[in-house]
Amino acid sequence: MGQVADNLVMVQERIAVACRRAGRAADEVKLVVVTKTHPAEVIARAVAAGADRLGENYVQEAARKKPQVGGKAQWHFIGHLQTNKAKQAVELFDVIETMDRLKLGRELDRRCRAAGRDSLDVLVQVNVSGEESKSGGSPDETGALIDELAALPRLRVRGLMTMPPWFDDPEDARPYFRRLRELRDRLAAGRPGLDELSMGMSGDFEVAIEEGATIVRVGTAIFGARCVAARA
Ligand SMILES: *Cc1c(COP(=O)(O)O)cnc(C)c1O
Repeated sequence: MGQVADNLVMVQERIAVACRRAGRAADEVKLVVVTKTHPAEVIARAVAAGADRLGENYVQEAARKKPQVGGKAQWHFIGHLQTNKAKQAVELFDVIETMDRLKLGRELDRRCRAAGRDSLDVLVQVNVSGEESKSGGSPDETGALIDELAALPRLRVRGLMTMPPWFDDPEDARPYFRRLRELRDRLAAGRPGLDELSMGMSGDFEVAIEEGATIVRVGTAIFGARCVAARA
């Protein structure tokens, strides 16, 4: 097995250990392997080693690499999605994790209909820290946005996603993960299907799992440092 396959197995084991520590079943947590900047042949190695969900931040980059990667993995969009990229996003992605505004939701719904696609899973991105540099809506407005999106016939709102501020010590991210879980728990009352919590990256996914993550998004711990030159 190569380095990428070894790293993937190690991350899967760390997920299992964190689940056990938290009294959760290992299959409650889905791993999105974040592939941004990495070339298709390296991603294909991860898929061959069992990666079944891939995460990309740029529509163009995914369009270029997806045909070369092949396989049956689900593709998650985890970057900022411009409305004018909605058509391509509908063609390429199984899940949009960064839904942050109604206008984008309307456009995705319209593009699904045009493409004959029945449904598209989305997560609503929440800015739990209130930092201006972070994307996502405010926690106070999340319920209203979910209800507006739920009224669009082709979008299925499956849960919430967040990116806390960056810390050296992953313990410092814990309060933000907890805040997202508490928000989900509050909003899930009366909104069936709001199950997913996408939170936790290479540096802090174990803490996120302890706080209830159902999806973790991990790149560097599997592929090493990002390749700046590979971006389209
Ligand atoms: C890049 C990225 C990740 C993965 O980060 P790593 O630290 O490389 O694991 C996760 N989520 C989002 C939204 C990202 O942009």
